[in-house]
Amino acid sequence: MTLKFENCYAKLGDRFSVAMGPDPLSNPKAVITNAALLKSLRLDNYSHDDLLGLFSGHQIPKSASPLAMVYAGHQFGGYSPQLGDGRGVLIGQVRDTENKLIDLHLKGAGKTPFSRMGDGRAVLRSCIREFLASEALFHLGIPTTRALAITTGDEQVRRETIENASLLMRASDSHIRFGSFEYFSYTDQHTELKQLCDYTIETHFPELKNSDKPYDALLFAASEKTGNLIAHWQAFGFAHGVMNTDNMSIIGQTFDYGPYGFMENYDPYYICNHSDDQGRYAFNRQPEMGRWNCQALSQALAPLTTPDVLEKALNCYEETFLSCYHGLMTKKLGFSTSKPEDKALYEDLLDLLEGYGIDYTIFFRSLSQYCAGKDFHSLLSNQNSAVSFAPWFDRYNKRLQMDILSETDRHKQMCSTNPKFILRNYLAQKAIQNSEAGDHSELHRLYDILKSPYNEQLDQEQYAQETPDWGQNLQISCSS
Ligand code: AMP
Ligand code: MG
Repeated sequence: MTLKFENCYAKLGDRFSVAMGPDPLSNPKAVITNAALLKSLRLDNYSHDDLLGLFSGHQIPKSASPLAMVYAGHQFGGYSPQLGDGRGVLIGQVRDTENKLIDLHLKGAGKTPFSRMGDGRAVLRSCIREFLASEALFHLGIPTTRALAITTGDEQVRRETIENASLLMRASDSHIRFGSFEYFSYTDQHTELKQLCDYTIETHFPELKNSDKPYDALLFAASEKTGNLIAHWQAFGFAHGVMNTDNMSIIGQTFDYGPYGFMENYDPYYICNHSDDQGRYAFNRQPEMGRWNCQALSQALAPLTTPDVLEKALNCYEETFLSCYHGLMTKKLGFSTSKPEDKALYEDLLDLLEGYGIDYTIFFRSLSQYCAGKDFHSLLSNQNSAVSFAPWFDRYNKRLQMDILSETDRHKQMCSTNPKFILRNYLAQKAIQNSEAGDHSELHRLYDILKSPYNEQLDQEQYAQETPDWGQNLQISCSS
């Protein structure tokens, strides 16, 4: 295979990673491939066999310098001084069609020095969950890592049951986490901490290079990116589930998908991670936890930054979060500009959705077809709620009349902001069960639908509907 790889991260030296290749999967079979991403990474001209060789870890090009990265992290508030890639390797970087270097990381690639008690493998179920969610978020317009391919093999691994080891090839601009900085900071490797910051600025934030205080600027920029990210999660109803600092990307992408969940019936207290007993990462705590993580990053960067950065970083986070969330919510309501008083309008709406247990995505999508001043009853799944909704619709109608957008333009804006299709847990679960039995057609169908979440796709109506009773409260295994 002549595919040309680079690996800038390897050049940082052996304090940053351990050079090692993947442990290949025996008898590999392709499960799903992301054709558009393959093309944008200029990998579309390689043969099926060459790509399977790469995605299964059998054929790693000579130009790649695969490695396992070291990092630390605050997990559920407690500090774990050494984590690291325990079941994945960064294969290297390829140049995309815009000449940008993109990391390819093979998740499930076998034991590394950071595997601790784990077997270094991933299972088909967890690979499918990450593949579908990261692509769903990407097509919704939420910053995220991407998924390039899933491969499964014969090797069996033990979780709650015996499952097949599988690999996910993940693509992203960066695999640097908040926990990467924490590792160097708290092991007193401050030369390396500076080296990592310089690398991050050079590679991901080149506009900060000439700043007077580049490390302060890096902290502020990462805090802003994080604020922007979490505003998107809140506006789309996405719960990440494990916002530990080792799962927080320095470039503000959704990173490391585990027991995530999309909000269905609006419930601010929604906890998608069954092992999160305290609800630390409940949906409505995500903004606060994003702030907590920015504070942890600020503390890790303290050896390089000026003393008063913490407050400023938290301001960057909060201001970005609030303005981005406000902008997204007012856009969801169909307004051309945001007014401060709109906040009460969407907050009161969320209270109503919560009170009547109404599906968040379906409600906003149907509101996108609403004509100002007309009867709103058909938008409500529960007619008992109509009396409570009436005063809200009065206010909404008045606000719509003040807006300059025509009805047609508003419908257009709302239909490109309020998705029809999200990744409901039971849909993912159905695709997983079929795939585990060797039939990947449902996985492919669901992936196709999620690629166009704002399109009507009238022949796929059942994928846009509320979760049926049998699909409620499915116990999704969190072991991955
Ligand atoms: P996660 O909860 O997936 O973010 O993982 C937390 C840490 O545990 C990371 O350092 C992972 O690399 C490591 N890890 C998770 N699963 C495994 C596994 N099966 N084998 C080895 N390490 C693992
Ligand atoms: Mg992780």
